[in-house]
Amino acid sequence: MSSQSFLSILTGSFSTPCADNPTVAMIEAGYRAAGIDARYINCDVKPEALGDAVSGAVAMEWAGFNCSLPHKVAVIDHLDELAESAKIIGAVNCVSIRDGKLIGDNTDGKGFLASLKEVTDPSGKRVLLLGAGGAARAIAVELGLAGVAHITVVNRDPEKAETIAALVRDRTACDAAAQGWEGDVRVPDDTDIVINATSVGLGGAEAMPPLAQETLRKELVVADVIPNPPKTKLLRLAKERGCTTLDGLGMLVNQGVIGVELWLGQTLDADVMQKTLQEIFGASE
Ligand code: NDP
Repeated sequence: MSSQSFLSILTGSFSTPCADNPTVAMIEAGYRAAGIDARYINCDVKPEALGDAVSGAVAMEWAGFNCSLPHKVAVIDHLDELAESAKIIGAVNCVSIRDGKLIGDNTDGKGFLASLKEVTDPSGKRVLLLGAGGAARAIAVELGLAGVAHITVVNRDPEKAETIAALVRDRTACDAAAQGWEGDVRVPDDTDIVINATSVGLGGAEAMPPLAQETLRKELVVADVIPNPPKTKLLRLAKERGCTTLDGLGMLVNQGVIGVELWLGQTLDADVMQKTLQEIFGASE
């Protein structure tokens, strides 16, 4: 009799729409390279079916799953426990299933932080954060927990910026302020890190958040969350001005690495995953 196992570890993603989500290609490339017999299944789950999908994952003994839009908040009702930052952020994009128990985490900000740490130590730094949506909220909380000194959140809708600034002030040791977005944002002289966490640049290589280019000093780290195209106009300009730049691919790759560590306790090869994404996004770079 063969001793070979024909039962793969199951992981995946629940979201809708999901046909253009490349995470499956990235993570399965990582599994293959590591010789792990695991699958990542991209599932189109409508809001009314989320509870059934979660029960199905538990019934089929999945190791875990990602949740993307529109389920990041709704999924919390189906979970047993939340990790610290997911509790503060109020959104979950990564669920681990351990002994039938569902534990929610948020890897959006953690993925960004892992990328940022490759170029600078965020501790004690001052950050200008553009945008106040879900990505900005997760990044602000993780930066606050990582010891950043001050975050200024800039957004067209200033109330959303204030909500994030208040969350950071109340729930982390970091100070934070909100600013409305009027005309071209100027980067203050004492800023160390500028982050575009708006959706400006997604799918448009020439789109640029309104920002006074002459205020981009070469000492700055300039990061963009946009993964496609990875070389956004903001990053191209920042590089021309001598800044250290960080694209959104790294954030996406690190989220995948962190998710699999939570599910399987194994670290996938980030380079293999990054190359897979580069091949996918390459045509639009
Ligand atoms: P949301 O819709 O929650 O937020 C969008 C943000 O962008 C809001 O703050 C919005 O401002 C701002 N915005 C949109 N258009 C403009 C504009 N023309 N000028 C100024 N601000 C603008 O989106 P998410 O936070 O979920 O996602 C934001 C981006 O992050 C997406 O493009 C997504 O692809 C990317 N992302 C990347 C990840 C990665 O791993 N690389 C992970 C998660 C997200 P307002 O509130 O005023 O409307």
